[in-house]
Amino acid sequence: MISLKHLKGIHLDHHKNTAGFTIVPMPVPEKVYIPMVQHIGAPNVPVVSPGDRVKVGQLIGDSEAPVCAPVHSSVSGEVVAIETFMTQMGRNDVNIVIETDGKQELADTVVPPVVTNKEEFLKAVRASGLVGLGGAAFPTHIKYNPRNPEEVDTLIINGAECEPYITVDHMTMLAHAREIVDGTLNTLKYLSIKKGIIAIEGNKPDAISLFKDLTKDIPEIEVFELRLVYPQGAERVIIFETTGRHLIAGKLPADIGVLVSNVNSILKLQQYLETGMPLVTKSLTVDGNLIVHPQNVEVPIGTKIRDVIEFCGGTKRDPKKILFGGPMMGRAMPSDDLAILKGNNAILVFDEAFSTMNPETACINCGRCVRGCPMNLMPTTLAKAWDRKDLETLKAYDALTCMECGSCSYSCPARIQLSYKIKLAKDLVMQDLRKQVEQAKAQAEGGKNA
Ligand code: SF4
Ligand code: SF4
Repeated sequence: MISLKHLKGIHLDHHKNTAGFTIVPMPVPEKVYIPMVQHIGAPNVPVVSPGDRVKVGQLIGDSEAPVCAPVHSSVSGEVVAIETFMTQMGRNDVNIVIETDGKQELADTVVPPVVTNKEEFLKAVRASGLVGLGGAAFPTHIKYNPRNPEEVDTLIINGAECEPYITVDHMTMLAHAREIVDGTLNTLKYLSIKKGIIAIEGNKPDAISLFKDLTKDIPEIEVFELRLVYPQGAERVIIFETTGRHLIAGKLPADIGVLVSNVNSILKLQQYLETGMPLVTKSLTVDGNLIVHPQNVEVPIGTKIRDVIEFCGGTKRDPKKILFGGPMMGRAMPSDDLAILKGNNAILVFDEAFSTMNPETACINCGRCVRGCPMNLMPTTLAKAWDRKDLETLKAYDALTCMECGSCSYSCPARIQLSYKIKLAKDLVMQDLRKQVEQAKAQAEGGKNA
């Protein structure tokens, strides 16, 4: 294990062009396309059929699988198709296509849940359809129910928003601070966690002072100012910065006594407790040098990217790259024909000049990638080992500890795609580990049958 002694990282240009832009609700589009998989875990099964009329907040997909978050309609209208096609998760999934009627009638089920204890709280979290809204999309009711609840003493609310361009969490914190504090208090109460830490990067002084003011008489909540070093919002980094605890690869935050939730997750949870409205809209930043009117928008889940871009005035020219998420950790999308899911926090649209990298040159052994890596890895060694498909070196140099933050690639004057190579290398190591587990299982079975 490589020990994390000091947090490293890099200084980025922030490009927070939409800072100060309040979140604008987008009108419902003509159709929404809601996939049955918007989370890490098992797919949902549709509980509606073509021809059914649905309302806002109505359950439309669910599953009895343990790791799964139900899906609700973001609009009122008619289910016109249930089809399988490619979603932004990069796979073919079942989608419920709903033609909207523009009335946005609420489902009868949208009523505040009765929550008086932990069991009811976890049931409510599941019923809300909540997943990690910082991008991970892991079902929240599973995260909040670890195998060692008595050892969890700290809840970290992640308001770092350290990726360039994205400002939607900042605007959310300014607009909904009271609900975020109440959501934090409810989570602490029902999960019997002693301390909450609302962690915000230092470039949002207005949000920091707002939360400090709101929590000055609440001893169990601390407002923590994070340093202006990327990537403060990465889970392992924010845990280390706020608690000094090390989260090593293969372990969960709960294993070191911590739960981490994004500010938007806590907000949606509190809104569900207050109103019974499940997760049916997503706020995101729409920016990039091609967007005519960059802004923060709240869109019905299932809205196509192109409808969101059109709402923001369209693009100045044909885009070269569309990103879901920030430029450091976001994913490039093959087209604007994909739908917004629960985990999206930004659409960034760029032209050729912004998207094209100069060709890679030879490593000059400058060490910048090593100096920038928050996990104290040796990106250049790992990338070269990937080029050779050298599994032993990848394991020895802890490839699995890489959190794909992109700091090494950003720092590299030779423009070597270090984080991309290490991401592929991690897959190789995981495949090998899975193979070893299968072999061990087969040997054990063979021994039993001998
Ligand atoms: S992408 Fe991985 S190797 Fe590169 S800086 Fe981030 S954690 Fe380190
Ligand atoms: S930053 Fe790039 S050029 Fe410098 S040591 Fe790392 S891989 Fe080599």
